[in-house]
Amino acid sequence: MKKPLAKISNVSVDLFPNGAPFTVLENISLDIFQGETLGLIGETGCGKSMTAWLLLDMLPGNGKIINGSVWFKGKDVTDSSRTLLRGKNIAMIFQDPLRALNPVHTVGKQFVTILKSRFGIDNQEARSMALKWIKRVRLDSPEDILLRYPHQFSGGQMQRLMIAIAMSIKPDLLIADEPTTALDATLKTYTLDLINSIRKEEDISVLLISHNLNLIANYCEKIAVMYNGTIVENGNADHILEKPKHPYTQGLINALPKGNKKRLISIEGSTPTVNNKQSGCRFEPRCTEAIPICKTSTPQLFDVTSESQVFCHHYSKENKVL
Ligand code: SF4
Repeated sequence: MKKPLAKISNVSVDLFPNGAPFTVLENISLDIFQGETLGLIGETGCGKSMTAWLLLDMLPGNGKIINGSVWFKGKDVTDSSRTLLRGKNIAMIFQDPLRALNPVHTVGKQFVTILKSRFGIDNQEARSMALKWIKRVRLDSPEDILLRYPHQFSGGQMQRLMIAIAMSIKPDLLIADEPTTALDATLKTYTLDLINSIRKEEDISVLLISHNLNLIANYCEKIAVMYNGTIVENGNADHILEKPKHPYTQGLINALPKGNKKRLISIEGSTPTVNNKQSGCRFEPRCTEAIPICKTSTPQLFDVTSESQVFCHHYSKENKVL
């Protein structure tokens, strides 16, 4: 059986912002396989970026894994050895490209330093590699680009530079955290097409984080849907988008503009604070399909097909009604 490149198994994470534990992720499980794109979708604040930081050992607020394990290439990296994956096996593109580089050094200096440190090569070799990657992300005048400072680029140009830098280190996994949030509509597709084409050429896996289901639908083979620090449904993207099982996923899909639909149907209520220690299903206060057990018991994972799983009481043998 094929083994995942990265595996998060039943992980819960606590932060300690004021000394007291604050649970931000609960029982998260994800498998990312070589060469595939996994889309992580959910509302702002549901724990998507926290999941990325977990993989990179970059949890804020003295964050700690309190149960579960993280694996990379078959090796248990639950301890701090995840730090060693950064900039080598795993690269990340952040939401705001304009804040991703040091503003007082030229792009060339920073790009060349990264490549020298990653591959142990000399200045000249690193410079020619940087020029090749700048051309590969279709930016004009590569020589001139190396001499410029970060503030001399537009958001779209800077995000393409970030893609060049991230891909140039030849990672096994690229984490793209809302990579198009700061871009206008025309540049969103352009940027994601670029990531997708380089991913295929280089056989890199991608974890694409977004709150935009339409974007995720176009680029991902698999989807994991997050709600309030937990994963509520995951599996094959086409299956989930055609026949979503979890009421929250159904709500997200109903809220999308489609055909000549005049009114979008929103999910009633608002997202609770993460660390919501209510018993039962975290989605229960907003769920139109809730049954009595949802208030008192946390739903377990149920296999709906060989391709997808859902955390909802309606899929237990006893309550199968949906
Ligand atoms: S477990 Fe209950 S409350 Fe939670 S999503 Fe399923 S039906 Fe709704």
